[in-house]
Amino acid sequence: MSSQETDARAQLHIAIVGAGITGINLALGLQARNVSFTIYERSPAIREIGAGIGFSPNAERAMGLVNPEVLTAFRRVANPNGEDFFQWVDGYETNELIFKLYVGRNGFQGGLRSTFLEEWAKLIPAAACQFSKHLDAITEEDGSPHRFRLHFKDGTTATADAVIGCDGIRSRVRQLLLADVSSSADHFQLPAAAHPSYTRGFCFRTLAPMERAIATIGATKALTRFMYNGHDAHLITYPVANNTLLNILAVIEDANPVWPYQHSQGRHTAPGRKEEAVDAFAKWSDTARGIVSLFPEERMDKWGIFDMAEHPAPQYHRGGVCVAGDAAHATGPHLGAGGGMGIEDALVLAALLEGVHKRVGQNGGGGRKAALVERALEVYNEVRYERTQDVVQSTRKACDLFHWKDPEVRRSPEKFGKDITARFDKVWNYDLEGMVEGALAKLDEGEKMRL
Ligand SMILES: Cc1cc2nc3c(=O)[nH]c(=O)nc-3n(C[C@H](O)[C@H](O)[C@H](O)COP(=O)(O)OP(=O)(O)OC[C@H]3O[C@@H](n4cnc5c(N)ncnc54)[C@H](O)[C@@H]3O)c2cc1C
Repeated sequence: MSSQETDARAQLHIAIVGAGITGINLALGLQARNVSFTIYERSPAIREIGAGIGFSPNAERAMGLVNPEVLTAFRRVANPNGEDFFQWVDGYETNELIFKLYVGRNGFQGGLRSTFLEEWAKLIPAAACQFSKHLDAITEEDGSPHRFRLHFKDGTTATADAVIGCDGIRSRVRQLLLADVSSSADHFQLPAAAHPSYTRGFCFRTLAPMERAIATIGATKALTRFMYNGHDAHLITYPVANNTLLNILAVIEDANPVWPYQHSQGRHTAPGRKEEAVDAFAKWSDTARGIVSLFPEERMDKWGIFDMAEHPAPQYHRGGVCVAGDAAHATGPHLGAGGGMGIEDALVLAALLEGVHKRVGQNGGGGRKAALVERALEVYNEVRYERTQDVVQSTRKACDLFHWKDPEVRRSPEKFGKDITARFDKVWNYDLEGMVEGALAKLDEGEKMRL
């Protein structure tokens, strides 16, 4: 091995699998902290679906702490809400406001998923992001235990000191981690937690031209964030793309306990028709039916909503390998919290790995580097597990609230307001700085115990 190769190996190097919200934020967090990394993404380029996403107040604060440039880029392209409130309407019968929750000044803004990802990805040097790299297996490198070799489907490999799986709800890294990291890809039994479960709900999503949306439901409803509650379904709408499009999500309950379609290309989608959405909301109010009328006439994909509530991963790490974002704790969309949880994961991982980097420096620190990496990922698991699992469970309960599973909730705006406020409060008002400080203190404690 040349001395250059020895130097390169001595320095801490992180492999990030997946260039979604979590992977990109982790990369930018490591970049801001001078920790070396490479992202491996299976798609040939940054790829996101044509739909909107809104980032909750905690997500925005996490962006600023991950890397101030992440927040600046977000604010550059985020779409302002007409009002600083999240508002719920009885979409079924009265069409009246049930409850409104303050989101903070210019809070909970939405935008196009692709726009956010592209803006963030521009901040990462091209050499640090390798595309068309579909991870298949991870092994420990021969002669260098605790250094990992990533095996991609194209036959190529790469090495790193830690592998962070940000590879989404159907994560390969989670499968490898919960089975046996060192086994070859095809010969292990996978536990239930390796697979997400169907929540008995699916959704239709579309982006409607704003002019049509305003003509159909009026400017007040179209230019800010609203949700329409009712029996066994709900609608959520908010403006994106500089107020030129209305993002619409229609969530519909399914009596079927299993997703009755084949999974295609790593996504839980199936061909759908507008009539299905029209039928589901046929007895709803004019406004709700007006929103559904904005769906396109041509074939629409319908999306099965999957999560990990029924079979949570028992832990997010094993040795120097861990999972983050949806790969660790995929959740439904109903609290708009999944993306933010991934950004919070990225924040604490970036801080902990910087801690490792500072402690081992450029000379690799011998066996200490591997031990510290393991400790860092163990601490990551300790500080993130409870909060993220809580969001997964709370999200399912929020969906029940929106779908009037409790008849009292339908009758009592106070009851609804109290419950939903408590759920959002727990997600939004979280001490991120305290989380990072606590994690770094735990890293130090682990070090002292080893001395
Ligand atoms: C309908 C809906 C609406 C939502 N709305 C919101 C919202 O408003 N706000 C919010 O915060 N959250 C929302 N969420 C949740 C949010 O979309 C997810 O939590 C978030 O996108 C997860 O990001 P991620 O980077 O962890 O995973 P992903 O976005 O799934 O990214 C994973 C990446 O890994 C790549 N990959 C996968 N496997 C491999 C492999 N083997 N090798 C290499 N690369 C691989 C994929 O190609 C992809 O680029 C919503 C979810 C849904 C379903």
